[in-house]
Amino acid sequence: MSTNDLKHKLINADRLISVIAQSGRFRASTVRNNITAQTAQEKHKLSKLPADYLAKHLTSATLISSFLKGEERIILDSSGSVIEKVYTEAMPIGEVRGFIKLSNSIGTSEKSLLNGGFFKLSKILYDKGEPITGIIEIKSDNVEEIIEDYFLDSEQIPTYIKLDVGFDSDNKINSSSGIIVQSLPGTPIREMEEVRKKLKNSPSINELLKEESGLSLILKNLLPFDFDVTKTSRVDFFCRCSKENFISKLYTLPVGEIESMQSENHNELVCQFCNSHYYLDNNDFNKIIHDLSAKKN
Ligand SMILES: [Zn+2]
Repeated sequence: MSTNDLKHKLINADRLISVIAQSGRFRASTVRNNITAQTAQEKHKLSKLPADYLAKHLTSATLISSFLKGEERIILDSSGSVIEKVYTEAMPIGEVRGFIKLSNSIGTSEKSLLNGGFFKLSKILYDKGEPITGIIEIKSDNVEEIIEDYFLDSEQIPTYIKLDVGFDSDNKINSSSGIIVQSLPGTPIREMEEVRKKLKNSPSINELLKEESGLSLILKNLLPFDFDVTKTSRVDFFCRCSKENFISKLYTLPVGEIESMQSENHNELVCQFCNSHYYLDNNDFNKIIHDLSAKKN
């Protein structure tokens, strides 16, 4: 990669910014994540509808995770009838990954996509031994409404979220962004309603980004309160999978199973989160079989 390419890549890298109201009444984050959304669509080879749903879930996970610390984690897990599953997880350090699974009934227009299913949000936090999980029944096919319902019903946090995904004429994602605002304890409902009204009547972040470059300037114009920036970070579609990782999981299987995988040439390992394909060669198989047999004796 040339220095110019690198510069270009850094300037265009996905970015997030988080702020807190000077009044202490709101927190907010906004993200521009074109590359993350495009990467997800490419890796999973998605057509327009699933690409849109996955991108919106990735954006939501990134925005919600921005309120956590370091390598704490948010997992969003939606399941419905046409969309069987959308699973995304994000860390405040800027990593996000996920996948979408459609049922065979796609194209049957009378069925809802997610409505009637369940939305689960889990937080993996440093100071808690177990994940904290909330779950709601989904009452909409709109991802924004699902997230807002979740926070109100499950965590009693009035929340506004706006998610934008744009496509070019080939149905490839060309822009993606989002904003979340949450009212903090003690904030009058009326003030949150003012925030919601202002944001609803404003152009989308995608549109605003076409005109001006800075996310913090956009927030200054969008949010009806003064704020301090608490964090800015890069965001990437990033999966920590590796061939070594997959191989270490094979060590939990009985040796006979590994032997039949080898003889039937089942040598492909696929990561569901990022659709990376890894292949085992005979050396890999022989080593696993050798190690497992040695353990048995
Ligand atoms: Zn992976």
